[in-house]
Amino acid sequence: MAGRRIEIRGTVQGVGFRPWVYRVAKRMAVVGRVRNAPAGVTIEAFASDDVLDRFIEQLRVPTPSSARVLDLHSARIPDETLTGFVIESSDTVGDKTLSIPPDLATCGDCRAEILDPNDRRYQYAFTNCTTCGPRFTIATGIPYDRPATTMSQFQMCPECQQEYGDVEDRRFHAQPNACPKCGPKLSLAAVDGSALPATNPLDGAVQLLKCGAVVAVKGLGGFHLACDAANATAVRRLRERKHRDEKPFGVMVADLHAARTVAEVTPAEEALLASPERPIVLVRAREETRLVPEVSPDTPLLGVFLPYTPLHHLLLAKVGRPLVMTSANVSDEPICRGNEEALRRLDGIADAILFHDRDIAMRCDDSVARVIAGVPTIMRRSRGFVPRPFQLARAVSRPVLACGAHLKNTFCIAFGDTAYFGPHIGDLETVAALDFFEEAVERMQTILSIRPEVIAHDLHPGYLSTRYAHTRNDVVRVGVQHHHAHVASAMAEHGLEGPVLGVAFDGTGFGEDGTSWGGEFLLCFAGRFERLASFRPVRLAGGDLAMREVWRITYALLYDAFDGKPSIDALPLFDGVPPESLRVVSQMIERDLNAPRARGVGRYFDGFGALALNRPVSTYEGQIAIAWDHIANDAVRDAYPFALDRSVAPMEVDLRPAVRAACNDVMANVSPGDVSGRFHNTVVAVTVEVVGALLAEHGDVPVVLTGGVFQNARLVAGIEEKLANEIKLLRHRQVPPGDGGIALGQALIADAFLGDKG
Ligand code: ZN
Ligand code: ZN
Ligand code: FE
Repeated sequence: MAGRRIEIRGTVQGVGFRPWVYRVAKRMAVVGRVRNAPAGVTIEAFASDDVLDRFIEQLRVPTPSSARVLDLHSARIPDETLTGFVIESSDTVGDKTLSIPPDLATCGDCRAEILDPNDRRYQYAFTNCTTCGPRFTIATGIPYDRPATTMSQFQMCPECQQEYGDVEDRRFHAQPNACPKCGPKLSLAAVDGSALPATNPLDGAVQLLKCGAVVAVKGLGGFHLACDAANATAVRRLRERKHRDEKPFGVMVADLHAARTVAEVTPAEEALLASPERPIVLVRAREETRLVPEVSPDTPLLGVFLPYTPLHHLLLAKVGRPLVMTSANVSDEPICRGNEEALRRLDGIADAILFHDRDIAMRCDDSVARVIAGVPTIMRRSRGFVPRPFQLARAVSRPVLACGAHLKNTFCIAFGDTAYFGPHIGDLETVAALDFFEEAVERMQTILSIRPEVIAHDLHPGYLSTRYAHTRNDVVRVGVQHHHAHVASAMAEHGLEGPVLGVAFDGTGFGEDGTSWGGEFLLCFAGRFERLASFRPVRLAGGDLAMREVWRITYALLYDAFDGKPSIDALPLFDGVPPESLRVVSQMIERDLNAPRARGVGRYFDGFGALALNRPVSTYEGQIAIAWDHIANDAVRDAYPFALDRSVAPMEVDLRPAVRAACNDVMANVSPGDVSGRFHNTVVAVTVEVVGALLAEHGDVPVVLTGGVFQNARLVAGIEEKLANEIKLLRHRQVPPGDGGIALGQALIADAFLGDKG
C-alpha cells in the first residue's frame, strides 16, 4: 500500500465532484477520504502505486459535466490503515470558504427523467441533481447548504431524502433536490393575479403561447417574456409593449438540431450553445428561416440559446417551435425577480404569467457569447458563469470591490489570487438599477465572506457607480480611467503584468482630461499608463442626443473635413432631417456650444454608417455598426486615405481624408456595401499602422485588442490577418471585451496603484 495526497483546483465544489470521486475510488478499491478545501478538493488516497497512478489519471478528466480541473497536484504521504473511502463533510473540518457554484443547465439524466412517463419526475419542472440545477440564484448565505437556499421552505419527502442521503445516488447532497410530491409547483395567472383555468399550468401556458399570447415565465435568475418566434403579430406586440424598438430578441430552441434549422451554426458555436453555462449565442440566421424578421430587424445575427431548466425543456417540447425569450423588464431596467414584483411590473406587458413558488434569491440575466473571428468570446458574463472564480496571475494585497462601468454594468470583487464578477446589472441609469447593484454587491460580499478595503470606480464624477463609491466611507477609493481598465482586464485574462500596448476602441469613456475618449492606444503597466495615440475628436452636437440622432455625427465629420463648408445638399442622408434641426446643429458646432468632443471609434462607425446607409437615427448603441458590418462587401480590398498627426501628443489619427473620400463615393452612388468595406479596411489600416509605429518606438511588447468595437468580427479578423504573424496579438475570451468586462481591470489597477504608492 502507498498513500498520496491529491489537491485539485478548479470548479470542483457543488458540482457532484466529491460523490464522483467516491464512486471512482470504490470501483478501483482505493481507500481514503475526500473533502472540500478552500481552493478546491483534497483527496487522501491509499492503494498500490499503480492503482493510485490510474486513479489520478481518472481524476484529471472528471465526468460531472460542469466540473473543471484547473490543476492537480499529488504528493506521497504515509500509509494509513483504513477500510473504506469516505466523504468528509465541509463542516467537520471547519471549512467556511466553500464556494457557491454557478447555476448549471439541466443534465442529460434529469432531462431523460422528465420525458419518461414511468419516472416519478415525469414532466416535473424542478428536477435537478448534483451535476445540474439552480445554485447561485437560490443561495441566501453560506455555506451552500439547503437551509441557506430558497429551497429551505420545502421539506423533502422520504424518497427525496433517501436520494439526498445516499452516496451512491445521483442526488447525494443535491441541495435543491425535489419531486412533484414535495417540491416547488407551477401556477398560471393573469396579470391581475387571478388564477387562469387550465388542467395544468404548463399546458395552459403552452396553449396561450400557441395562440400568439405573450407569457411571462419565471425562470432561474428572473422572469422571461416568451412568445411564438414564428408569429409576426405576437413578436410585434411584445416589441411594442416592451418599448424595445429594434433590438434583437433572444430565441430559445429545443436542441442543437432545432438551432440548425433557424441558423447557420459552426462547430465552435454548437459547442458554446451546448456548454453547461448555456449562454445566448449570436449566430447567423438562415435566409429561409422559419422565424419572422421582427425577431431581429436589420441584422442577420440571431441570439439563440438552448433550454437550461426542466421547465424550458418541457415548454419547448410542448410548444414544438422556437420561442422568443427575452428578459422581463421594460427597456433597460433590471430583470424582474419576485412574484409580486412581476404582477406589478408586467401589467400591460404580459398576457399571463407562469409562476412558481421557489424564490429567486439573486437576479441573474442570461449570458451572451459569440464566436468572434474563430475565438469563442463571452460578451455578457452572467447566469451560468457567476460566481465562478477567475484566477489571477498575481494576488491582490487587499480585498477590492470594483464598481464597473456605467453601461452594461457588472462589478467585480477580488481578493487573494481570485476575482469574482457579479451578475450583469445593466445600465446604471435608474434608481431600480442602482438598487439592484447595491443588493448584488451586498449579496456577493456575504457569500464570499469578504469586506472590501478598497473601492475602484470610474473617473466620471456623475456616474451612479462613482457616487455609490463615495457613500462607502470605510474604504480607500481609487478612480480608474475607463480604457486603462479595459486594457487591464485583457492583461489579467492573459496573465500579463505589462508593459502592454492596449488598443481600446469603444463608444465612450471619461478621459483624464475630462473629455470623452474611445480610440485609445495606451502603453499599460500594472498600475499606470501612457497615452500614446488617439483619434481626432468628433463633435457631438446636442451631447448624448447625437448618439441617437447619428446624422449629427455625420454632419460634424463633414463640417470638420470640409473646413466648415459641408456640401450636404448632395447627400440623401440629410433629406429627412428638418432644416431647423440642421440649422441648430450647425450653429452648435460653429459656436462650440453644447457640442462636446468625443474620440470614440464607435462614433466614427455611427457617423460613416449613417452617411452610407442613409440612416439618420440609431435606436440602440451599436445598431448602425451592426447593420453595416453585415452589408460590407468582402471583395473590396482597398481603404480610404487617412493621416497621422505626429505634431501633437498623443499622436492623432485624422480621418478627414477618409470622410472626404467616403462622401465622394456616396455622391457617386457607390454601393453602401463597398463604402462599408472600405471604411472597415480603413480602421484596420489605421490600427495596423499606429501599432507598428508605436512598437517601433517602444519595443516589442504584446498588443491587446479591447473595447466594445472589437465585438466586430470583420475588424478583428482584418487586424489579425495583418498583424498576428508578426507580433503577439491578444484578445478577450472569458472576460467581455465590452464594458461588462472592465471591473476586473479596475480592481487590479487600484491594487497596483496603492501598492506602487507604498
Ligand atoms: Zn441532473
Ligand atoms: Zn420529494
Ligand atoms: Fe468601454
